[in-house]
Amino acid sequence: MAAIAVLAVVGLAAVLVIRAQRLPDSVRPILWDNEVCAQCGMAISDPRFACQLQTSEGDVYDFDDPGCLLTFLHRHRPRIHAIYFHALVGSAWLKYPDVVFLRGQQTPMEYGLGAGATGTPGALDFAAARNYVEARGKELRKGVESREQRAVQ
Ligand SMILES: [Zn+2]
Repeated sequence: MAAIAVLAVVGLAAVLVIRAQRLPDSVRPILWDNEVCAQCGMAISDPRFACQLQTSEGDVYDFDDPGCLLTFLHRHRPRIHAIYFHALVGSAWLKYPDVVFLRGQQTPMEYGLGAGATGTPGALDFAAARNYVEARGKELRKGVESREQRAVQ
């Protein structure tokens, strides 16, 4: 019985080591124009708004717009290993939670948020950005519905 318990502990440790080795410790490179957003299905072409979610299960999801990633979090509630947002300016990737969001940007899916370094004046923090995207998503869906209604009339 003790031997089985020892084997179970060793087995669990081995699984944890394998999982720890498999989880990435940086952003996985995105193949621009060849990979699609996990939320909206559009090609990821503009690095300024690209972002990536890595789950504790080892899944990696890429997005074309921070709004798409935040919508995905809201809908699927994944266990987060890491989240990276490409900076609006420059070539750096900003790792959650060291990121803030600037409004009024022309983003691929019209959510309007670009990522910046913490301390940027006037920016939204992560929680505020999630609320903003939820409200913006409703607004965008309403816009699509009214366009569809106009098309029917
Ligand atoms: Zn998207």
